[in-house]
Amino acid sequence: MPKVTIAQNILAVNDTVAQEIQQMLATRGIRTINVMSSPGAGKTTLLERTIERLRGELGIGVIEGDVETTADAERIEAAGAETVQINTRGACHLEAHMIRDALAQLELTRVNLLFIENIGNLVCPAAWNLGEDTRVVLTSTTEGDDKPAKYPHMFAASQVMVVNKLDLLPYVDYDLAKARRQALAINPRLRIFEVSCRTGAGLDEWCAWLTAFVHGDSNTVCKQSYSSAATARGT
Ligand code: MG
Ligand code: ZN
Repeated sequence: MPKVTIAQNILAVNDTVAQEIQQMLATRGIRTINVMSSPGAGKTTLLERTIERLRGELGIGVIEGDVETTADAERIEAAGAETVQINTRGACHLEAHMIRDALAQLELTRVNLLFIENIGNLVCPAAWNLGEDTRVVLTSTTEGDDKPAKYPHMFAASQVMVVNKLDLLPYVDYDLAKARRQALAINPRLRIFEVSCRTGAGLDEWCAWLTAFVHGDSNTVCKQSYSSAATARGT
């Protein structure tokens, strides 16, 4: 199956670059989180609220991935984080070489927590390592509670799930217990946070976890494993 072989080679090259990035960031003492979700789940809003709460305590940097526009990077910069925008011009996920180029443009000296906001897409971002320490999948109550069951690879490849838009629960047919159950059936070790970026509910717990994550609390370490990601893809 030559086409499969080519795809695996591309992913192997990507993994090599991702490992170089992870080592460089580890040397600098920077902890990195790859944030993934479908479009409109609230990645940028979650980062804005997080930066507002933690900017006095942590040095936060953001690599902002979007197909087009710098609108989200402008929001993140206004919230008070060191930011660089990647425009993929049509590509539906970020790749490690894009992160390497973006890092060259970031002032990293004061950063100890780096977020990578991936392209809004629950499919292929799961297959591309970016050199992150951990992966967060964000989902929201307006998307339906069947997302873990429909996109199992994303939930299997992530260490943390954040459910956003809790404030809308009275108005939507979203079964929180069902989403939680389905996600844990796919990935029993998934850490789950339930938040509303609009009301602030749940953000204290999320931010406390982030702070512990940056300071290397072993209970929060759910390190991205390159070998297991490769196994999940069948390589
Ligand atoms: Mg965004
Ligand atoms: Zn893609």
